[in-house]
Amino acid sequence: MLPIDLRSDTVTRPSAAMRAAMAQAEVGDDVFREDPTVRALEERGAALVGQEAALFVPSGTMANQLAILAWCNRGDEVLVGEGAHSYESEGGAGAVLAGVQFRVVGRGGHFTPAEIEAAARGEDPTGHAPPPTLLMIENTHNRGGGKVMPAIALAAVAEAARTRGLRTHMDGARLFNAATFCDLPAAAFGQHVDSVSFCLSKGLGCPVGSLLCGPKDFIQRAFRFRKMLGGGMRQAGILAAAGLHALDHHLPDLRADHHRARRLAEALAHLPDVEIDLASVHTNIVIFKVRHRRPAAVCAALADWVRVLPFGGDTVRAVTHRDVDDEDIERAILAFNEVLGG
Ligand SMILES: *Cc1c(COP(=O)(O)O)cnc(C)c1O
Repeated sequence: MLPIDLRSDTVTRPSAAMRAAMAQAEVGDDVFREDPTVRALEERGAALVGQEAALFVPSGTMANQLAILAWCNRGDEVLVGEGAHSYESEGGAGAVLAGVQFRVVGRGGHFTPAEIEAAARGEDPTGHAPPPTLLMIENTHNRGGGKVMPAIALAAVAEAARTRGLRTHMDGARLFNAATFCDLPAAAFGQHVDSVSFCLSKGLGCPVGSLLCGPKDFIQRAFRFRKMLGGGMRQAGILAAAGLHALDHHLPDLRADHHRARRLAEALAHLPDVEIDLASVHTNIVIFKVRHRRPAAVCAALADWVRVLPFGGDTVRAVTHRDVDDEDIERAILAFNEVLGG
């Protein structure tokens, strides 16, 4: 039997129905904006998150970096939460491509309006301090264990940023997981920020793709930067069809991923050597520590049965997704008991 793959929700493979939708997609040249399926996906995505327009891009990394390029000037400061993907996991792109520098605010990826106000110092007339121009909010927060920033907290933080003249971008790679956890439409989050990105290739099960959403003039600027980065795709309707299929059929299934993550987290909490914060398991990510064992050693010991990832310095991450079912989770729990139980 193959090991159960809980390394990431990016390991999901397109279903037969998704592949059929891809095969039947109407296509055109999207660099000329002539691919009807891409346009349909962009319209659909923008509406879902409460924004005016959208741009289909190859990855969540490109979506975040386009947001930085389209909102900032070189030498600007971008405020991010602790462990944010945009500055820790995108290869240094913010520094290289947009020439911005990042400053971390708050703790565990969350911050208060007061922390934003304190960090968003105004223009420095002497020119010493780089002007903070963008706040990036990651929701759900990956390194925070898939934790959700509730819409009301998000609104307060975005308001604090706006009153200080900052733009706000939400890295919503897993925004639909946040929306599912709160039982709210994604627009209840997306409407509070200037721009939003979300991934189709994670829990939604597409092979490729993310959407960057925001006002029309912002998307127009991002369109040009996408071309510069080599992200202009031609008959991309083949890929966009997968996105439309996922938005039509896969959103309700995120709830089951969350139940499975909770089941796994609670089983892990029973193991004497496992340290886990059950209160932070909101969605499909489970992060835990194993006493006296290095994360890489834990992952290696489990590898024949369950695949998980060393995450950060001393933790292990497991992620549930649509390619694992209840039975797989029960099998995974047996393996965790076997390897970590004694
Ligand atoms: C996965 C992820 C991204 C984008 O990742 P890609 O692999 O570039 O698609 C961005 N932000 C967060 C929080 C993520 O988890």
